[in-house]
This record gives sequence, structure tokens and C-alpha cells, in this order.
Amino acid sequence: MKGMDIRMKNHINIKNLSFAYDGKEVIKNVSINFHKGKFYSIIGPNGSGKSTFIKNISKILLPKAKSVFIEKDDIMNISSKNLAKKMAVIPQNILIDYEFTVFDIVMMGRNPYKGRFQDFDREDEKIVKKYMDITNTWHLKDKLITQLSGGETQRVIAARALSQETDIVLLDEPTSHLDIQYQVEFLSLFKSLKKDKVIISVLHDLNLASIYSDEIIMINKGEIEAIGNPWEVINKENIKKVYNLSVQILENPISHCPFIIPIPTMD
Ligand code: ADP
Repeated sequence: MKGMDIRMKNHINIKNLSFAYDGKEVIKNVSINFHKGKFYSIIGPNGSGKSTFIKNISKILLPKAKSVFIEKDDIMNISSKNLAKKMAVIPQNILIDYEFTVFDIVMMGRNPYKGRFQDFDREDEKIVKKYMDITNTWHLKDKLITQLSGGETQRVIAARALSQETDIVLLDEPTSHLDIQYQVEFLSLFKSLKKDKVIISVLHDLNLASIYSDEIIMINKGEIEAIGNPWEVINKENIKKVYNLSVQILENPISHCPFIIPIPTMD
């Protein structure tokens, strides 16, 4: 095992990342490495900086130079087209007002591989069909994106992100619009793809984070409060400190990860 760890590539390196909105620092000196082959969850209360962190490592917000590295390259030196070949992002709020068909939206995932006047070809169509099948969206292909439910839109955006065929996938609360069946299918899908990828997901549901993650990063007020496997992070003390919530932790009888039961205050 040790030998394997040494060979594991640091796919994303974050070095002393800080970020402020209008002078107010919301990410404070965060350093962390992400490796291929792992599913990472980012948890933490509302306003703790999870989205800002994801936006910094995907260049939606601009981090300071020399704080985010993708395969050893400073993200600030990577063009958006090249970044889109390395990283796909499934954002929190997907607002598409344009009257595109679902098929066209998913095909946009192939844009980074095309020259300016180059059309999509059979190979692109094959790739798009493959990911629409696994996200269960192929039957929606001729519908307009504006006609879909929140959950269907989320799956279409996942198909588009997968069609980018990137090593890194970032998800910002991907399950918020999904019912329980699709939450489980969605996370299982990304987990099944993790062998060749780095998957980093913001998750609100601590029990889902516990089931699916190899590592959990618990953020509190812009800093990493705890990091490690689910048993190292999900404990009474951390949850009390970060969420101000009393909980009982049991062992999930199916996946043997921690299972959280909130204890409401009785007033
Ligand atoms: P989380 O994803 O954990 O809920 P965010 O990263 O969205 O947290 O927000 C972290 C902090 O930054 C919050 O205090 C929030 O109000 C603030 N914030 C988020 N976006 C902006 C923005 N565009 N402008 C100013 N402040 C922001």
C-alpha cells in the first residue's frame, strides 16, 4: 500500500489559498492535495466557504497566483479551453434560459475539443450518447432544456460534464434537486467513475457524505476544521463544534461508515 501512495499523483495542489469578497476573508490559508482515484466530500455549515472554495479551484473566481495547481501547473496559467479538458464543474444553481435542446446542451461538453469552426462528429455523438445513457437522459434528448424539472436538468448537466471526459469533476451540492432515488444513483455513478478521476463534491447530507467519501473535508468559517476518512471527521465533537448540533453516531449496518442521528433540543 505504501508504495502505491508514493506513486499517487497529486492531481490538485492547493497551497495557502485565501480568498476575500470586498476585503472580507472567507477562505483562510487552506492547503490540501487531492489525488486521483478518490471521492472527496466538502462539508460545513451554510456560509462556511464551501462554494467559494469550489469556485476558486475551478477558476470561476480568480485565486491568487501560485495557490491552485492542476497537475503542477498554476491554474492561473491554464487557458479556459485547456482547463475544460482537465476539469468539469457541476454548479449549484443551473439557470439555462436559452431554448436549447437537451442533446445540444450535452454536446456542449465536447466544445473544448473542437476548433473554432470545427463541427461535432460521429465520435462526439457516440460519447454524448454514452453519458446520456448512464445519466438516464437519452429519452429527453429532443426536449428543450427549459421544459425539464430540476432533477432532470441536474442529470443533463451531469451528462454534459461527463462528456467533457475530464480527470477532475467538481460538484457543488449536486443532489439538492434530486429525489432520494436519484441522489443515490447520482453519487453511485460518480463513485463508480472515481478510479480514473478526482471527484470533489460539496454535500449537505452528512450521511450521504459518509457513505460515498474516501475523504471528508470539514470546513468551518473558511478553514479546514477536520480532514480524513469518514470515521476521522464525523464525530460528536466536530459536529457540535461546527454545526452546533448534538448528535449520536452509530455504525451504518450496510456500509459500516458513521451514521448520524441528530438529537433535537427539547424546548
Ligand atoms: P457555503 O457554500 O459554505 O454556503 P459560500 O462560499 O457561499 O459558503 O459563502 C461564504 C461566505 O462568503 C458567506 O459569508 C457569504 O455570505 C459570502 N459570499 C458568498 N458569495 C459572495 C459574493 N458574491 N459577494 C460577497 N460575499 C459573498
